[in-house]
Amino acid sequence: MGKIVAIANQKGGVGKTTTAVNLAAALAFAELKVLLIDMDPQANATSGLGFTPSKLKASIYDVIISDTPIESIISDTEIDQLFIAPSRIELTGAEVELVTVISRESRLKKSLKNITDKYDIIIIDCPPSLGLLTINSLTASNSVMIPLQCEYYALEGLSQLINTINLIKDNLNPDLEMEGILLTMYDPRNNLSREVHTQVKDYFKEKLFNTIIPRNVKLSEAPSYGKPIFSYDIRSKGSESYIELAREILKRL
Ligand code: ADP
Ligand code: MG
Repeated sequence: MGKIVAIANQKGGVGKTTTAVNLAAALAFAELKVLLIDMDPQANATSGLGFTPSKLKASIYDVIISDTPIESIISDTEIDQLFIAPSRIELTGAEVELVTVISRESRLKKSLKNITDKYDIIIIDCPPSLGLLTINSLTASNSVMIPLQCEYYALEGLSQLINTINLIKDNLNPDLEMEGILLTMYDPRNNLSREVHTQVKDYFKEKLFNTIIPRNVKLSEAPSYGKPIFSYDIRSKGSESYIELAREILKRL
């Protein structure tokens, strides 16, 4: 049974998509069969793997709104063992359209029922909000990973996210676990980065991943080539850090 991990934080620009794409690719290189689900209307994970969202005939939108079987929208990628359920901008509308749908919080969960066994792990890239798309993602998942950017306001908004996670645990998905907090864009020369690290470690203790993702320009360049970091610059610090993160996850599987 494939483990389902949501990568969530209602803040934009904290490294959700970078983590989703590169962790998924690293696990596929480790010979796991991986499905990456793009739940963000901005479709950055989709384009980050070389797809042009506007050219897709169908997307996760059709699965969530029209009961299209998810199998029919899953595509293979340039990386062996890595598959994607892509997104398109029309997913923006789903947030509103879902409001009147029955079991609106469980649409994604329902769609995954028959395919979970076919993958070793399923990674969901969430949008930067706590709306119904994120709620669907958390309801469908076994665990949630929270990337935090090493900056002054890193912890701002975190209590709101934790509240949402607890509400989902109480009402929709009692088994939802905390996979861990991941520090991203870490700059060891910067005092603030080190302070954020100490603060987050004190608060979250063993829930903080040992792996810390450094600020690395190669990580920000790779998506414009439609490639994960390993196909763009395997020797970069960014590449090393996501391989290390994949090792940490593999140990737990
Ligand atoms: P989110 O999905 O949370 O909005 P992204 O993963 O898209 O965040 O990252 C936001 C921006 O920061 C993107 O331009 C991305 O390329 C860049 N970025 C992400 N992680 C790093 C990193 N470790 N080092 C440098 N740039 C990064
Ligand atoms: Mg994103």
